[in-house]
Amino acid sequence: MSMNANPLSTLDAAALERWLRRSAQLITEHAAELTALDGEIGDADHGQNMKRGLQAVVELLDADGPAAGGSLSTPEALLKKVGMTLVSTVGGASGPLYGTFFLRAAGALKDADTADAAPLAAALRAGMEGIAQRGKSSPGEKTMLDAWAPALEAMEQAENSLAAAVRAGADAAAAGRDATADMVATKGRASYLGERSRGHIDPGAASTALLWQALAETVEAGATGGDAA
Ligand code: ADP
Ligand code: MG
Repeated sequence: MSMNANPLSTLDAAALERWLRRSAQLITEHAAELTALDGEIGDADHGQNMKRGLQAVVELLDADGPAAGGSLSTPEALLKKVGMTLVSTVGGASGPLYGTFFLRAAGALKDADTADAAPLAAALRAGMEGIAQRGKSSPGEKTMLDAWAPALEAMEQAENSLAAAVRAGADAAAAGRDATADMVATKGRASYLGERSRGHIDPGAASTALLWQALAETVEAGATGGDAA
């Protein structure tokens, strides 16, 4: 996707909808790859789990999202319902974890109609802390947190625009995903393999990197969402 001359400087509910829709596209496109990664160190269902969940999110948006003039018109209402939808549709370990992420991020945004870089980073960090708490996990254990944590650090350190911040986050998420290959899993299904989990990328870190990629693309696309202006 080409860089728009006018990337977003803040996210409202409509922009969050575009992020989630782009996330659903990327997860669907990469579902077989995510499942193959899970096949190496887990039970080969992560891509299907995530695809099912994000497709349920798209149905939710179609029915009740901001673009449809529905009731999910604030960031908090939207992300809360997304979290509940993921909890009830993704399954596995990752469903409750991603669901908790969105529920906590929603709570952090409170009554705000828009979030620029700092409040967005704070909301995403609150979400990540929810994952760590629910999963009793921390970075370095070869999980999705190994994409979330470096992405948030990079986003928080980026000083310029929202676009620069989320692009730095997306790049760091991808690097974090790749770095899981050298780690031994101590949480989740992959931990049953012990040392044999080394040499494989964690599927949850890979799906997290896709969510960050979708976020960066959404911000870069600007207010038109990439449609001709
Ligand atoms: P399951 O392992 O139940 O089959 P999935 O395959 O959908 O669930 O998701 C697996 C991913 O969930 C892992 O790759 C990892 O990133 C993430 N995960 C599992 N357990 C934890 C945990 N305790 N903390 C953080 N992430 C976790
Ligand atoms: Mg699995």
